[in-house]
Amino acid sequence: MSIPEKMKAACLVAKGKIEVKEVVVPKPGPGEVLLRVEACGVCGTDVEIRDHGLPGQPLFGEHFIMGHEYAGTVVELGEGVDEFNVGERVAVEVHKGCGRCYNCIMGNYTVCLNYGNKEKGHAAGGMTVDGGFAEYTVNHVNTLYRIPDNISFDYATLATTAGCALYAFNIFGGYVAGDTIVVIGPGPVGLTLVQVGRGLGADNVVLVGTRKSRLEVGRKVGADYVVNVKEKEDPIDIVKKITNGFGAHVVFDAAGTSSSLETALDLAIAGGKIVMVAFYKDPVTVNMSKAVKKQIQLYTVRGEGRRNVGRALSIMAQGKIDLSPLITHSFPLEEIDKAFDTFVNRVDNAIKVVIHPQG
Ligand SMILES: [Zn+2]
Ligand SMILES: [Zn+2]
Repeated sequence: MSIPEKMKAACLVAKGKIEVKEVVVPKPGPGEVLLRVEACGVCGTDVEIRDHGLPGQPLFGEHFIMGHEYAGTVVELGEGVDEFNVGERVAVEVHKGCGRCYNCIMGNYTVCLNYGNKEKGHAAGGMTVDGGFAEYTVNHVNTLYRIPDNISFDYATLATTAGCALYAFNIFGGYVAGDTIVVIGPGPVGLTLVQVGRGLGADNVVLVGTRKSRLEVGRKVGADYVVNVKEKEDPIDIVKKITNGFGAHVVFDAAGTSSSLETALDLAIAGGKIVMVAFYKDPVTVNMSKAVKKQIQLYTVRGEGRRNVGRALSIMAQGKIDLSPLITHSFPLEEIDKAFDTFVNRVDNAIKVVIHPQG
């Protein structure tokens, strides 16, 4: 495969400003491969990075390339790589831990203690090192998963999102067969949690949100009950009704506000679990005594660790989850601003917006 010297890349040139430029195609180092990026999803975290920055991220103005939910073709192998071949289709996970800190050794590499420290070997593609809003990018083999034949590149970009949802189940034990679960927040991760819960045999899956179009997708992907808080529907009434007044065994907060967490505390059964999968935009104030009095177990989850992107691709290929209704729009790299705008403002009921760097 012939690899050009230069490529198009969407560079974060200043706070809030992305520019498509011509830059040098990167070279894969030892243990790395060069990917031709075929599709890269736009995520809420990209908007956060563009407008505010993340800890460990390169400084604004350093021509940093965002994009962390991508899929592509292996086109060149770095030194010592025998895990993949040129021509293979792969999806990625974001985090490559340093491999030498306490958390990495324990398998918790999404919370690597050397987060953002390139010299120590940490890399988070599209966050602390260049990512997928470009024609080519470099990935360590630790972050790659083969894409099954029946999964398109566009669809494979959702493996990163689905990996987060699976990791959430992984973190709290995940045994929900016959249980009632509630997901608050019908964003891409929330909608995936609905499907995974369904796939793992939850008895009742309740989705709580404020947007009719999103809740309709939720129903399509497997929610038994959808609750529109904006239309004065009360999730507490509904969950009490279907659980004989006791509450849900597991509540996911995928909305990340004071009121969503307070609602989660009200919805959980005594002895139940709350799993926090959203970044909270602002500091939250909730009545934590509710958690203590009910002995609720609280969990948080960051990213998509423990091979869950690979697991996600597997259940996507098996048809156990179908996230295809989530991909609503695609744009070429040149229209990245329009893509972000479509995603942020949910233009035309956008959920997942995908960039095609190859045009
Ligand atoms: Zn993301
Ligand atoms: Zn580490």
